Amino acid sequence: MSHRRSIEVSTDERVTTVELTDRVEAAVPETATGTCTVFVEHTTAGLSINEAEPRLREDIERALTELVPESGWAHDEIDDNADAHLRSMLLGRSVTVPVTDGSLDLGTWQSILLVECDGPRTRTVSVTA
Ligand code: ZN
Repeated sequence: MSHRRSIEVSTDERVTTVELTDRVEAAVPETATGTCTVFVEHTTAGLSINEAEPRLREDIERALTELVPESGWAHDEIDDNADAHLRSMLLGRSVTVPVTDGSLDLGTWQSILLVECDGPRTRTVSVTA
């Protein structure tokens, strides 16, 4: 039987990353073995597993903003954030991590990163394990 818990995440910039590994692990039941699905319940934020090194996090933010231009999109006529929707699509909205006895089986350099594309906002991330 799996359990689902929610994490609330506050972001402080329009495009930024938030390291979630410890909060995700804390949301996984101690008895869980199998897989854990982490899912961000929004259309303008994404999730990724990568190294949480600060300069790389700057590069992730820069790459997303350079890959998707800020303006000139059709959806901007609705609420002026098409770039955020498109950037989040490059990342995807969920990651799956193997779990043993409630511990995430991540590689040495792997961290779970929420990537905010339209902050500052409060985001809801679900953890099902
Ligand atoms: Zn929108």
